[in-house]
Amino acid sequence: MKKKVIVIGAGVAGLATAIRLATDGFEVVIFEKNATPGGKLTSFEEKGFCFDEGPSLFTSPKFIEELFEYAGEPIDEYFSYKKLNNTCNYFFSDNTNITASSNSYIFAKDIAQKHNETESSVLNYLNNSKKLYNNTGSFFLNHSLHQLKTLFNKNILKAFLGFRFRYIFKSLNNFNKQQFKNPKTVQIFNRFATYNGSSPFLAPAMLSLISHLEFNDGVFYPKGGMISITNALYKLALVKGVKFNFNAEVQEIVVNENLANGVVINGEKTFCDIVVSNGDVYFTYKNLLNNNNEATKILKQERSSSALIFYWGISKEFQQLDLHNILFGEDYRAEFESIFSSKTIYHDPTIYINITSKEEPRIQAPDGMENWFVMINVPASENINWDEATIKYRKIIIDKINKFLNTDLEELIIVEKVLNPKKIESKTSSYLGSIYGTSSNSIFAAFLRHPNFSSQYKNLYFVGGSVHPGGGIPLCLQSATITSKIIQQKFKTKQP
Ligand code: FAD
Repeated sequence: MKKKVIVIGAGVAGLATAIRLATDGFEVVIFEKNATPGGKLTSFEEKGFCFDEGPSLFTSPKFIEELFEYAGEPIDEYFSYKKLNNTCNYFFSDNTNITASSNSYIFAKDIAQKHNETESSVLNYLNNSKKLYNNTGSFFLNHSLHQLKTLFNKNILKAFLGFRFRYIFKSLNNFNKQQFKNPKTVQIFNRFATYNGSSPFLAPAMLSLISHLEFNDGVFYPKGGMISITNALYKLALVKGVKFNFNAEVQEIVVNENLANGVVINGEKTFCDIVVSNGDVYFTYKNLLNNNNEATKILKQERSSSALIFYWGISKEFQQLDLHNILFGEDYRAEFESIFSSKTIYHDPTIYINITSKEEPRIQAPDGMENWFVMINVPASENINWDEATIKYRKIIIDKINKFLNTDLEELIIVEKVLNPKKIESKTSSYLGSIYGTSSNSIFAAFLRHPNFSSQYKNLYFVGGSVHPGGGIPLCLQSATITSKIIQQKFKTKQP
């Protein structure tokens, strides 16, 4: 008889785990508290404007391709994407700007010309980040760090040999300052720490490997917007026989003599052989296992940053903007000190604007108009009144955009919706609304992130942004691979 797995949550990682386990021959049932799949990766439409609510940057499509290959289904029938020519438009506080080409040679040439760097300094940096990713990073991101067999893996020596201590003992900012002359180039390369909700002034230089993914591998756009990732995974899960229950909040994980063997929904127990939680690991211990000790331990690690987002339907097109745009604040260090030390919102925040109608005009927004996703990084904190902060920072953001783009934005906003950390927490049960689980602001962060399994409860597993290897779509998909492999190996279920 097939072993039955219950997956709590239909986020990207929950969906990918369910697909892998169903392919391995398990019976898989998902319980999701919301009415739709996707977790943080959802969308909404209003007056002809389409908005991706969460992620907007798509890198490493190979992990989605691998998933379809594993499931034996043709990806083209579910999902398509294209590589972008430019990764991002950067606007600096001194009124200069640079468009980062996804061709590393063009990018290096532009940086050399505009920022007075040498082309070779940029190319060497990207080459080193590629080596760091291939030799070291990918090993640690593809394996559980909490299983003995990882330590005895023949490739671990290679992973360590490829390693230089400067990548752990220097902050990303100090590392970047040694590589580049111009503070604006440093700011561009510092920004990669935000890709997992960390500070470049605290996080180790190891995070420089993220720039490899963007400049060497590329940035991509999924046809139909980011939501098509959720839609493709959901469709694939259905094809693989995964059963879905929406509006089904799990209230408790059933544990008998330290064996997890079911869940409680609406007061009723449903039994299974294996439980996988795709929910935040803190809430899983606190609310579903009533284990305050373990929950408190998790809180010892700093949460990643969160976000304040405005979704604006704009009744005009802006030629200066592209799909991804950054309007940097003047003092990046002060901005991150606010977010992580004083846990306040910085008065001159860096603003990110994502506009999918640049890629799909007249589909993502009405003709002649644009769908703006406008985001600033904010602390994951319960001590901020988010309703007041929304009003205050809406004005700050609009004033700043007006200055950069020489416009009167207020008059152009015809659709508006807001997402703040409190709403992120209530929608996805992500503690304090952190968007990437725990931060990478310490050299031990990777090792302190919760394992993909429980050592206290037999047959209980974890997957997603709050556990190893961390947040962001690519890492969540890698998390799904690690967790499902551990389960598959333990239960030795053969692939059909
Ligand atoms: P989640 O998406 O959090 O899903 C967990 C699911 O579990 C949810 O659906 C939740 O409802 C459900 N659940 C929780 N508890 C229960 C329960 N008790 N019972 C039933 N169901 C439950 N990543 C990128 O790669 N690129 C980006 O540009 C990017 N930008 C982002 C911007 C924002 C604003 C946000 C919020 C996130 C962003 N991310 C980005 C991060 C990325 O979205 C996440 O890392 C990823 O989607 C997390 O997926 P997950 O599967 O771990 O969990």
